[in-house]
Amino acid sequence: MNNAIVIGSGIAGIAVSIRLAKLGFKVKVFEANSFPGGKLSNFKLGKYRFDFGPSLFTMPELVEDLFNICDEDTSMFFQYKRKEVSCNYFWEDGVRIKSFFDKKKFTNEISSNLNVDKKIILNYMNKSKIKYDLTESIFLKKSLHDYKNLFNKKTFKAIFNIKKLDLNKTLHQVNQNQLKEKHLVQLFDRYATYNGSNPYKTSGIMTLIQHLENNIGTFIPNKGMVEITNSLFKLAKRQGVEFLFNSRINKIVTKNNKVLGVNSDSKFYQSEILVSNSDVYYTYKKLLGDINKASKLSKIERSSSAVIFYWGISRKFEMLDLHNIFFSNDYESEFEHIFEKKSVFEDPTVYINITSKDVTNDAPKNSENWFVMINVPSDCGQDWEKIVKELKTHAICKINNILKCEIRDYIEEEKVVTPKIIDKQTESFMGALYGTSSNDIKSSFVRHPNFSKTYDNLFFCGGTVHPGGGIPLCLNSAKIVSDLVSKNLS
Ligand SMILES: Cc1cc2nc3c(=O)[nH]c(=O)nc-3n(C[C@H](O)[C@H](O)[C@H](O)COP(=O)(O)OP(=O)(O)OC[C@H]3O[C@@H](n4cnc5c(N)ncnc54)[C@H](O)[C@@H]3O)c2cc1C
Repeated sequence: MNNAIVIGSGIAGIAVSIRLAKLGFKVKVFEANSFPGGKLSNFKLGKYRFDFGPSLFTMPELVEDLFNICDEDTSMFFQYKRKEVSCNYFWEDGVRIKSFFDKKKFTNEISSNLNVDKKIILNYMNKSKIKYDLTESIFLKKSLHDYKNLFNKKTFKAIFNIKKLDLNKTLHQVNQNQLKEKHLVQLFDRYATYNGSNPYKTSGIMTLIQHLENNIGTFIPNKGMVEITNSLFKLAKRQGVEFLFNSRINKIVTKNNKVLGVNSDSKFYQSEILVSNSDVYYTYKKLLGDINKASKLSKIERSSSAVIFYWGISRKFEMLDLHNIFFSNDYESEFEHIFEKKSVFEDPTVYINITSKDVTNDAPKNSENWFVMINVPSDCGQDWEKIVKELKTHAICKINNILKCEIRDYIEEEKVVTPKIIDKQTESFMGALYGTSSNDIKSSFVRHPNFSKTYDNLFFCGGTVHPGGGIPLCLNSAKIVSDLVSKNLS
């Protein structure tokens, strides 16, 4: 058996360890933290449980695929359900929208609350599906940097239909042209935040993101998001993968164009294959000592980051569900602050995730666990202590206006996370949630490939490399790496 080493037990690191074990490697995963999952982990605050990072779960089939390749029955280890309402939207002018998965209910909701013709919304959703179907296999499933993958029927079909992809417009322009009604435009603009981008900059092709939520659905694992990590961690161990916690890799040892292994705590570990699930910038800077390459990577714009207030709330709010968004009154200024001014806007959009709505043990009786997230710029030296104070005031003001209450009276537990903390806890450069942003039409091509051009046996997976951040894409990156390794073997 050949050795394979994975640096980091983020969701992509765990997934790639399972796939490499299936290819016959003896796999070791080194993790700097004392627990698996990186951003997809959890913690307790008094009697409340909180998922640390991701709250939205789409494309569960990518998790199931890992159980399937190991001939295990997913339902024995990982249970989840589809949400009937994917998100509740609130505006301060009183408009409310429930985003039902059922298309009929959703279009009825839009037409009765916003007076928009149902055909407009169905047409919009259909066009997004076409974009997704035309591009999924090219951009999301294979290495984009292995040019042989681009010469096939699917690429030619996409090129032939290039007009339908809206590449020459921004997401906001497409939404404005097709949907017109201002609340509806804002609702669909917000899908840019799925990968930490700016709707006023990212390409119009990104209308395909909402297809995941509205045509395929959103899901919640029965024990919360961390169950994705926990179930795959158990699966990896059943495949013989060895996890070493509190074990930071300090150096990747190379000779000529080969990786020989890694150093951790001044001990050398030999390996035939090395996969870095650490942020690709830190991999070059700290582990390979390639300052030039790190400097080039640092110039690519990062995705947005977040300030998160984890609140134990000693009251129940019937009008809220698992996912809730309280919109800013000026979305364009909000994104201008995040991406251009690198500061925070005085009227931010507030996202509230409450897992105790579905996972009742996550909060005590008659209480709720609120994950209150505000999008902010990635860390470039801002005064986060000051910003946290400001954001708390702004968020509370918006929540009080919309829910007609004094929310401070119900906060019995609090923990706050800033971009700096995200960077430190998960080794994510500048605390970016999704690696590099997708604000430029060339973003997919400048994102780092899943393989090294210098070292034959070095590969990369996770949110900072192709195809990008978010759980589904991270899981795809793990599959792309194992396909590349398997191709190298044959
Ligand atoms: C607040 C927040 C909200 C988000 N919301 C969503 C969402 O709703 N839906 C969604 O799909 N995605 C969401 N994301 C994005 C998603 O969490 C990430 O894209 C994904 O989890 C990244 O996984 P990864 O495999 O790249 O590894 P990471 O989670 O980044 O973990 C990397 C791991 O590697 C370890 N490591 C790094 N360097 C070393 C080293 N030298 N030695 C040893 N170990 C090392 C780190 O300790 C860490 O555990 C969110 C992220 C955050 C932070």
